[in-house]
Amino acid sequence: MEKYKILKKYFGYDTFRSGQEELIDRILAGQDVLGIMPTGAGKSICYQVPALLMPGITIVISPLISLMKDQVRALNEAGIHAAYINSSLTESQIEKAMYLATQGRYKIIYVAPERLLSGLFMEFLNHVSISMVTVDEAHCISQWGQDFRPSYLNIVHMIAGMKIRPVVSAFTATATEEVKNDIQCVLGLQNPHVLVTGFDRENLYFEVRQGRQKDSELVRYVKEHKKESGIIYCATRKNVEEVHKLLVQEGIEATRYHAGLSGNERKQNQDQFIFDEKPVMVATNAFGMGIDKSNVRYVIHYNMPQSMENYYQEAGRAGRDGERSECILLYAPQDVRINQFLLEEKEFREELSREEMQAVMERDALRLKLMTFYGTTRDCLRGYILNYFGEKTKRRCENCSNCLNEYLEEDVTKICKDILQCIWEARREYGAGTIASTLHGSKSEKIRGYGLDKLSTYGCCENVTEFRLKEIIGELIARGVLRSTDDKYATLSLTTDAEAILKDKVKVVMKFSKPAEKKVTAQKKAKQTSQNLDSKGWRIFEKLRELRLQIAKEEKVPPYIVFTDKTLVDMCVKKPSDKKEMLNVSGVGDAKYEKYGERFLACLLENT
Ligand code: ADP
Repeated sequence: MEKYKILKKYFGYDTFRSGQEELIDRILAGQDVLGIMPTGAGKSICYQVPALLMPGITIVISPLISLMKDQVRALNEAGIHAAYINSSLTESQIEKAMYLATQGRYKIIYVAPERLLSGLFMEFLNHVSISMVTVDEAHCISQWGQDFRPSYLNIVHMIAGMKIRPVVSAFTATATEEVKNDIQCVLGLQNPHVLVTGFDRENLYFEVRQGRQKDSELVRYVKEHKKESGIIYCATRKNVEEVHKLLVQEGIEATRYHAGLSGNERKQNQDQFIFDEKPVMVATNAFGMGIDKSNVRYVIHYNMPQSMENYYQEAGRAGRDGERSECILLYAPQDVRINQFLLEEKEFREELSREEMQAVMERDALRLKLMTFYGTTRDCLRGYILNYFGEKTKRRCENCSNCLNEYLEEDVTKICKDILQCIWEARREYGAGTIASTLHGSKSEKIRGYGLDKLSTYGCCENVTEFRLKEIIGELIARGVLRSTDDKYATLSLTTDAEAILKDKVKVVMKFSKPAEKKVTAQKKAKQTSQNLDSKGWRIFEKLRELRLQIAKEEKVPPYIVFTDKTLVDMCVKKPSDKKEMLNVSGVGDAKYEKYGERFLACLLENT
C-alpha cells in the first residue's frame, strides 16, 4: 500500500497510530474530515501522508509562525519539499516561494491566515492545482473557544473563491461540542468524516505533590533528571524570576520566559531551550503555544493553574514523542488564593455587559474550584482529568501518584469536631494557619495576642501536626463543611453542614499518604513502567544524544528534528549494525538515513 510506503520512507514508521489511517483513507477518497485528537497523537501525519499521495499541492493553514517553521523544518529534514508563507518573509521572498510552487517544487505549503485573501495569493491558487486545504488548530475558527482568530474566517472566503473546491481537512485538540459544531458549520465542511480519539495520553504519568517545601522538592527533582528537558510553570513573572534564580544558584542550566522580558530575550531563551542548550525552562503560561519540542520529559507546575483546561494543555507539552514523561503539580493551598487574585485582576478582552462579566467570573471561579479538587483528590488523577473532559474511564490507571501511592485511611471525626468547635468559639473569623496553631497549642505571640490561648480547644490537638490540621481543614473546605472567604485572608466560617459532624451524625474518613515509603513506592513502580533500557542501554542513549546535539548544531536545527528521543531509545533497543537494520528503527526514514545514518551506526558500534 502506497500510504505505508510513504510512512516508512519519509517518516520512518511502520504502523499508523489510532485514527490516522482512517482519516488518511477518507481524505484520499475525496471526503472532508475533521480530526479531533489530543496533542502528540500525530495529527500532522494525517494530512502530510495524503498530501504526498494526491496529485496537487496541499495548503496548510496554521496560526503561528513558530509552528509553521518547525513543521517545514521537520518536513525538509524528512526529504519532503515544503515551504511557508507568512509575515516573517519579505514580499519578494513570498513571490519567489509562489513562483517555485507553480513550478511544482512544493507538495505542502503552510500559510498564515492573514495572507489568504491577498490578490496575489488568490491568483496563485487558481493557477496551480490544489488538492487539499488543511486547517490546523481548527478551533481558532470558533468564537466559542479562547483562541478565536478572526483571520481564520478568511479560510471560508478563500475556499469559496477557488475554481475547484479541494478536499478540506481540519484538525484540533479541542473537543467541546460547541467548538466541534462550529468548525463544521463555519468552515462549511461537506459531509465530513468526524473522528474523535480519546483524550488519554498514556505515556504521561501524573502526580500531585502536596507540601510546604516546593523549592527543595523542585531542586531535587530537577537534579535527579539533570540531562532531561523540562518545563516549570509558575503563576506570575515574579515567581518565574525567583524559581529561575534558585535553579541557577543550584548550578542548573535553566532559562526563563515571561511577558515582562523583551521580545529579543524571549526569543533567545526559547531557542536555548528548543535547541537543548538549556534543558530547563521556567515560564509563565505565556510560554508554550506553538512549541513543538517533542522531547520534553517533564512539566512541573510550581503553582497550580487556573483551570483543568490550562493544566492539561500545559502538562500535555510533555512527551509529544510518545516516550514516558512526567507531569507534576506542586500543590499548596495558597495557590488557590494567588489564582483568585489573578482572576480578580483579569482584564476582559472585549466589551462585556455586566451580566456577561458576572457569568464569566462565575465560570472562572467554578473552573478554579475543580482545579483545586484535582490538587487534593485521592482518586485516580488520570480518571479525574478524563472525566473532567467528559470521558468515561476505568477505575484506576496505575500510572499516577494516587494509584501508585499507598494511602492509609483514618477516621478524623474527632479532630474535625475540634476544628469546627474552635472556629465556632473563636467568634472572629481566622485563617486556617491560625486555627491550626491554636488547636496545636502554639505559644506564639500572635495566638496569645488574639487571646486564642484562652479557648477551650486551645492545645486540644497537640498530638496532631499543624500541617496535618491544615490538610484536614482543606478537606472540610472541599466537602463544603467550611467556607473560606475569597479574599487574601481566606478566613474560615462554618456552613450548615457542620452540624451533622458536631452532632456525630456523620463520620469523616480521610486518606493520608504514608510519608516516608510513599515516594519510594511511587517512584519504584513508575520506573518499572518506564522504557526497558538497562544501565548500559542508558549509557549508549547518552552517547547518541551527544551525537544528535552535535549534528543539530552543525545543521542549525533543534535536536528533536534530527531524531526524537523515542527514535534514539529504539536504536538502543534494536542496536542496528547496518543500513537495513537502521531503517528498521522507528523514526528513521530514507532521507534521514542518508544524512545521519552512518554517523549513528558508527556511534552505536563504538559504544556497544
Ligand atoms: P500533534 O500535532 O497531534 O500534537 P504530531 O503530529 O506533532 O502531534 O506528532 C507527535 C509525535 O508523534 C511526532 O514526533 C511524530 O513524529 C510522532 N508520530 C506521529 N505518527 C506516528 C506513528 N504512526 N508512529 C510513530 N510515531 C508517530
